[in-house]
Amino acid sequence: MGSESYYDVLGLPRNATETDIKKAYRNLAKKYHPDVCKDPGAEEKFKSINEAYDVLSDETKRRQYDQLGHDNFTNASKGNYSGAGGAGFNADFSGFGDIFDFFGGGGRRQSGPREGDDMLMRIQITLEEAVFGTQKEIEVMHTESCPDCDGTGSATKKTTTCSKCGGTGQIKQVKNSIFGQMVTQSTCPTCGGRGKIPETPCKKCNGTGRTKVRRQVTVNVPAGIDSGMRLRMEGYGEAGDYGARNGDLYIEVYVVANPKFDREDDNLITQYEISPAQAVLGCEVEIETIDRKKVMLKVPAGIAYGTRLRIAGEGVRRRGNYGNLLVRIVIATPKKVSSAERELYEKLLKAEGNAGSSSSSKDDEKEGRSKKRGIFK
Ligand SMILES: [Zn+2]
Ligand SMILES: [Zn+2]
Repeated sequence: MGSESYYDVLGLPRNATETDIKKAYRNLAKKYHPDVCKDPGAEEKFKSINEAYDVLSDETKRRQYDQLGHDNFTNASKGNYSGAGGAGFNADFSGFGDIFDFFGGGGRRQSGPREGDDMLMRIQITLEEAVFGTQKEIEVMHTESCPDCDGTGSATKKTTTCSKCGGTGQIKQVKNSIFGQMVTQSTCPTCGGRGKIPETPCKKCNGTGRTKVRRQVTVNVPAGIDSGMRLRMEGYGEAGDYGARNGDLYIEVYVVANPKFDREDDNLITQYEISPAQAVLGCEVEIETIDRKKVMLKVPAGIAYGTRLRIAGEGVRRRGNYGNLLVRIVIATPKKVSSAERELYEKLLKAEGNAGSSSSSKDDEKEGRSKKRGIFK
């Protein structure tokens, strides 16, 4: 979105009158009309001229625009006119031909069969399913081409041109306003934008050519997928008009958090607690992988709190590549010790040359606060 003010776009001062605005708009729109001007930026320019005029020619919008300033106004009203999608795109065209033959409906095709809409569904999967891939059965409610009339909407499968819109599928309404004639373009209500009406309306689909169907669809979720990724199932969206392609079905995946494993790219992270003695002397521990395999892991003597040890190939599988399982070693200080252990700890303390104390500082090193996070890779 350009930050050029609407006044600049129309080449006008802030105190321009209604007549100035109208005149400037008309001149510029003629100059940059894409049918006339073949400059590379003409289409964009033409759009911004229309956008500027849409705001400045409307008393209320212009007042808001002046108060809010360009950036605030364009952000606050996004969608009202920027993008110019669908019906309701207004402009003054009195004085020079009908600009909507080229620009109606925000650039969408006006006549001929329309493609079906895309659909979006969301599914939840577990981390295991994301790691190994899975198949999910989902239920889709979408429109399909009517089987009785082959999508023509006509029991005889024959159609005639719509007399209301003359086959274009769009109708224009001209309204007189203080700024001149305003044109609104909308989908023809008689033919629903198809430009054709069925000879004898099909009973099954009431002449629409489409029926709503509930379908069971199997989705192949590939291994390695992550939250927010979308799968596309071509042609599984809404049915298009007769002769046009169907929309696509997009499936957005959400991976539910796992209590034991976190994910970092293609690596999985898990945590394992060892005792201070195991940390000092080193040990061998049994780790459960995400597919519940047992793997023996060597913890080297003198390991620092929070060190990640790597088990190769036990992470996320994606396109034949295997991520790793990283085991974060946590040294757990025992809260209770037996009398035998206590004796040994006391001996240890003496051997270290440290003084014992009843108010020991055992909470010094809290979970996750360790600065030493050396990664063994
Ligand atoms: Zn039908
Ligand atoms: Zn029509």
